[in-house]
Amino acid sequence: MKDIIINTSWCKGCGICVALCPRNVLKLNEETVEVADNESCIGCRQCEYHCPDFAIRIGEEDV
Ligand code: SF4
Ligand code: SF4
Repeated sequence: MKDIIINTSWCKGCGICVALCPRNVLKLNEETVEVADNESCIGCRQCEYHCPDFAIRIGEEDV
């Protein structure tokens, strides 16, 4: 399980990370993204690499 860190101040809810995540870990709520299924995260960092606002990152350590 990975530590998924979302900066909700920066997230604009564009959904890019949701669309790119291969494991359906993320979902949109009314304004920002949130973690729906942390257990399924494989740490591929597609979300982190493609977020245009640097609003999501994956921690270095497994949690
Ligand atoms: S790609 Fe970035 S700004 Fe867009 S919903 Fe995901 S975390 Fe938020
Ligand atoms: S690191 Fe990969 S599996 Fe985990 S939330 Fe981001 S895109 Fe999804």
